[in-house]
Amino acid sequence: MSTNTIKFKPFEKSDKITHFKQDVWSIFTPLAQQLKAANLGQGFMDFPPPDFVIEAASDVINNPNYHQYSHPKGRPNLKEALAKSYSPLFKRTLDPDTEILPTAGANEGLYATFSAFLNPGDEVVLIEPFFDQYIANITMNGGVPVYVPLRPQGDTNKVMSSEDWKLDMNELRSKLTSKSKIIVFNTPHNPVGKVFSLVEMAEITKLAEEFNLIIISDEVYDRLYYEPHVHERIANLPGAWERTITVGSGGKTFGTTGWRVGWLIGPKNLVGAALSAQTRIVFCVNTPLQEALASSFNAAEKHNYFEKNIEAYTRRREKLMKVLTDVGLPFTIPQGSYFILANTAKVQIPEDYPYPEVIQQRPRDFKVCYWMAKEIGVVAIPPSEFYCKENAHLAENLIRLAFCKTDKTLDEAAKNFQKLKRYIKDV
Ligand code: PMP
Repeated sequence: MSTNTIKFKPFEKSDKITHFKQDVWSIFTPLAQQLKAANLGQGFMDFPPPDFVIEAASDVINNPNYHQYSHPKGRPNLKEALAKSYSPLFKRTLDPDTEILPTAGANEGLYATFSAFLNPGDEVVLIEPFFDQYIANITMNGGVPVYVPLRPQGDTNKVMSSEDWKLDMNELRSKLTSKSKIIVFNTPHNPVGKVFSLVEMAEITKLAEEFNLIIISDEVYDRLYYEPHVHERIANLPGAWERTITVGSGGKTFGTTGWRVGWLIGPKNLVGAALSAQTRIVFCVNTPLQEALASSFNAAEKHNYFEKNIEAYTRRREKLMKVLTDVGLPFTIPQGSYFILANTAKVQIPEDYPYPEVIQQRPRDFKVCYWMAKEIGVVAIPPSEFYCKENAHLAENLIRLAFCKTDKTLDEAAKNFQKLKRYIKDV
């Protein structure tokens, strides 16, 4: 039989991916480009990293020694730079060899950790809203996500603080069972901007001890918090270090989200298990940019970088808050990270507006974001993507705006937002 008589049968996709919906980033980032709208959607910087970071990258590319595989444990220079920068912050002398692991971005660090600890049916508690990658990272590794939402206190139709978004500890406790294995905790928080307090962290740690949970503390925005708030680390609380793996991101820290270098910090047994998984996922993290990140950390202090970066983001945050105040949209003032949740309950979008299929089936916030991109010229992200289906309604009146953007983009958003005013009706 000749091969051209064999009928081609479509290949069945694995159960791991068939339930994936189109992700929110691949809907709204191309839309922003296509419409040339002010893009406050995806959380990447539209400005270059600092000169000393670019120089570090250029130096390593020009160095013939940095173009081959690295040891799966990571580049010693980066591990040492991280130990030097983070030991004072973790209030202990971190062992660069066993307690620090460079990863292929925070994303892969999370994936490797889930892979290292989850068996089929193990439950992972997620605090809603959450970074959307968590779900796929958990389910692809056989885990079962369990959800507990942050609940805003007070009048959400007024400007509020991210401090007002509270985790009900009794509700959290009610979600814990003998199958619970991991709780994922994120501070400063995407998208709420919440910086969790020591009291909140102590309560979470107590429950983690009682139910013997691993705490994955996603702290990719650990260098971004706004006065008078300071970022505290759950790993520093009594009883927490032994069960906590902290996730960091070079992309968020130095404005280099495309480098895809992050790290894990934690006790030897947790980091070692993540290394076992990571070795079979990427084998090793890319060599030159681990070296460039090491040089960037080593140079950061000399350039007063972390302080200056907070100042720059404080200005960007003020600018966006002013725009929202002027337009008349209530919002949550973030204590940290670079996102603002705005409340669109008062925005009346035309009822017969035509939406593409991919938007039509989604909650109201997707429709508001699509309409706003097309008619107002500002791109935002619908945060119901960061909730489970049952709780998605909690976000139907919210949009997430990122302010890791140039003054030019923020000014353009301010100008375009003027068009929104006529759609705002007090209810
Ligand atoms: N965690 C959170 C809370 C994030 O917001 C992001 C990126 N948006 C990540 C992890 C992933 O970081 P990275 O780009 O280093 O993979």
